Amino acid sequence: MPHDPRALPEFTTWPTFPFEGDLRIKVLEEPAEEPPRQGEDAAECRTCQAPDNQYIWVSDRWRVRAMDHPTGLPMVLILEPRSHLDLGDLPNLLAAELGVMTVRLERAIRSIEGVARVHVNRWGDGSAHLHLWFLARPYGRLQLRGTFLSLWDEILPPIAEAQWRENRALVAAWLAEFGGRPLADPAPIDWKAPTRLDGASTVEGPVDGPVDDTVAEATDPSPSPSAAPEEAPSDPAVAPGRARAAASGGERPATLQPDPADPEEAWEEGV
Ligand SMILES: [Zn+2]
Repeated sequence: MPHDPRALPEFTTWPTFPFEGDLRIKVLEEPAEEPPRQGEDAAECRTCQAPDNQYIWVSDRWRVRAMDHPTGLPMVLILEPRSHLDLGDLPNLLAAELGVMTVRLERAIRSIEGVARVHVNRWGDGSAHLHLWFLARPYGRLQLRGTFLSLWDEILPPIAEAQWRENRALVAAWLAEFGGRPLADPAPIDWKAPTRLDGASTVEGPVDGPVDDTVAEATDPSPSPSAAPEEAPSDPAVAPGRARAAASGGERPATLQPDPADPEEAWEEGV
């Protein structure tokens, strides 16, 4: 049977496909000259120019950043080398560390309550500087399984800001167990004040209003003494080896436990 370019592919019938209704396939444009990606010229690379305080965790050779606001999934993180390299350009040291960091991040994100799976993606069509995506799939949300997860991230309502900050801080703390520096803000304290402070018997229940950011900041623990948000990225080629991050293997920090609810179902990732 001849191929019908207008026929909808089978995946549009999958339960995980986010759209319904009348669909039509776009006309495929003729091949064009590849445009330069952002940062193809290292001198203009936004990743290389980004200060450490835009990241939740940094080490001598790697940095991890989150989105700048909550999105629909419990956690979306990006892993980047400090060096201006793409995947195929990594020297053996960074290539080996990429594997260790990938496993470590997967475990860290999966340790977040309510996360069943972590999807790891690398596209690289937008920016030249290597960046790996880690997307957390919520437990029990079977409709989000597989390749459409990144689309669902924009479809679902954003998670609560406080939960998002807590999740970021948890991952940063996990990574810091092996080295590097956590830079994520601790989750704001859910501070509840009595409506009256004079001890009168008419004191009412907790205030359910929004957390006072000023109070929350004032009561937050101090950032890690090693945190230096304005510190310029060091040259990874000559950086002294804080190689614990890579050398200490992949064992799980004792303070963080695996999600006992993680099912061992035989789902084919990427289907
Ligand atoms: Zn770069």
